[in-house]
Amino acid sequence: MEFCLSENENVLVPFQQSSHQQGEIVEVDQNNNQAFKNKASRLKLKQGEVLLLEDQQQEQKTFLVQDSLPGGNHYLYSAVCVDYPTQLLTLYIGAHPSRLEPCWEDMSLWYQVQRQTKVLNIFKHQGITSKYLPEMIASGRILHSGPCKKQTPGGRCDHPLCGTPILVTSPVGEPVSYVVSQDGPLSPEEAVRCCRDCLAALRSAAMANVQHGDICPENIIRVVDEQGSRNNIFYVPISWGRAVLEERDSPAINLQFSSSHALQHGKLCPSSDAESLVYLMLFICGETMQQQDSIESALQWRETSWAKRSIQQQLGEVSALLKAFADYVDSLCGTPYPVDYDIWLKRLSRAVDGVGDRGTSGGGS
Ligand SMILES: [Zn+2]
Repeated sequence: MEFCLSENENVLVPFQQSSHQQGEIVEVDQNNNQAFKNKASRLKLKQGEVLLLEDQQQEQKTFLVQDSLPGGNHYLYSAVCVDYPTQLLTLYIGAHPSRLEPCWEDMSLWYQVQRQTKVLNIFKHQGITSKYLPEMIASGRILHSGPCKKQTPGGRCDHPLCGTPILVTSPVGEPVSYVVSQDGPLSPEEAVRCCRDCLAALRSAAMANVQHGDICPENIIRVVDEQGSRNNIFYVPISWGRAVLEERDSPAINLQFSSSHALQHGKLCPSSDAESLVYLMLFICGETMQQQDSIESALQWRETSWAKRSIQQQLGEVSALLKAFADYVDSLCGTPYPVDYDIWLKRLSRAVDGVGDRGTSGGGS
């Protein structure tokens, strides 16, 4: 069963996935029908385009689009706020409100923009800040130039940008999926750093009772910190729209990267994100993971790989520490026990920040 938005953006309603075949849409009024035909021309922003954002307090901010971010996520752009043009920001563009017809793609945009806004607001309100978590800079709806025929402040007209939800975050980086496709596997040092940074983000989120729920190479960005001298690269898990906040929330299902518990029950257990992080480590270290074509085969792969300890062996060739981490996660998988973030952050940080260390210290100590 898939879900989509009804008119009220806070209500999820089930729909048949097959219904996004154009011919099967019934009972759409003239306007919606027109919007549907426009769907192929999804919002594409151009370099140099100026976006005016209006937030919920009716305050306005102007952003200048720099580029679309690599990796094929068409809703992601880099931009600067014209008031602070030196800071590069990430822009998530949602679907035009009138185009919220039952369609999986638009649903995923809703997760990326509106729901992620909710999650980042939770971090903000609970005072959760971390270098390794995205920070919300602004959120709201797009105002457009020229005449606007909207009837109410929260309304919209049929201009392609009118009322489109938008989320602006910091920092900006390249998804590790893109990094690996361009440059090949990460070095052992970088892999350990990536693991440490992601785990630091997960720990911070856990303080607000938030689990990411969609750890995969597309959702981890590599950030180059211009100010830094030596350690000027770090990693940030982005796309918190699928985060699990409460019992009824279900995580994203990814045959390659979801935890066994998520695949089996559609829910996360406390170590699920850490388990996905282990699969992420295999990926960034260049281990070929068998392509999975069903939940059954994905579960079978996990069961066999953990039972034969082949995941630990593969990671062990890269780093004794990552191997030890995989062993630890294996002992927790599917249990109700929380991840001991502190002890692993301490071990990983010792390896990351140690001079000339190849990421192997602390593995057994
Ligand atoms: Zn308008």
